[in-house]
Amino acid sequence: MLETILPIPDIFLAKRILCVQPHYDDNDIAAAGILMRLRQNGAELIYLTVTDDLMGVVDVTLSDEAAAQALKREQFEAGKIVGVKEQHWLGYPDAGAYDYFVVRSDILKYIRLTQPDFIFTADPWLTYEAHRDHIQTGLAVSEAVMFAGLKKIASSDPSVDAAYQGHEIKGVAFYFTREPNYIADITSTGESKVDVLRCYKTQFDPESLEQLILAMDLKSRQAAKDESFERGEPLKVLHPSALHCGI
Ligand SMILES: [Zn+2]
Repeated sequence: MLETILPIPDIFLAKRILCVQPHYDDNDIAAAGILMRLRQNGAELIYLTVTDDLMGVVDVTLSDEAAAQALKREQFEAGKIVGVKEQHWLGYPDAGAYDYFVVRSDILKYIRLTQPDFIFTADPWLTYEAHRDHIQTGLAVSEAVMFAGLKKIASSDPSVDAAYQGHEIKGVAFYFTREPNYIADITSTGESKVDVLRCYKTQFDPESLEQLILAMDLKSRQAAKDESFERGEPLKVLHPSALHCGI
């Protein structure tokens, strides 16, 4: 087993975590429970949202400007509960056409700028993931992690590149994964996670929001079925060197 050569990185060692999400609610739907625990453990949480998330807005009469404001307001409300220190946005068009390499250079900038020791993102290798925003974000994060120390690969900000001296990334935690190697115990934060999810009103009508909360609760119990705790969030946690050639 690979894990015997390269142990699964211990996310509880994290001091600063960059959580890169395709849409404004992905980090929290998938991982708010463990992120709250890591925050309690002393880690700083920085969120980076790749798209503008405007396509899923339920009320189509809302202007894009009003919708963008509502999305950010909800993100801040949720972020207060989770304990997010900083929020950043890249603003690429939700479900739209944008260049993969440009996104990668922006993510590279934030990795070099914020210098996280752990990174959370969506698993781009999730079987049957059809949403390109998720695939592109997860892959761009994975490549940016691999390339962070390579000076010749430019980020989108030359001044950030010039100041960057290198740093250690201990691990990448992929959420929305079908091949977890770690089930995070969220028994103590499961109820607060429900409060977090209830903040996200702009993209869910009340009924589908309650359905999501119920589904996430069921999934968290299912994830923990072989564990000694009640509720879990499945993660694939890899050392950066495991992101290339399976070594
Ligand atoms: Zn999403």
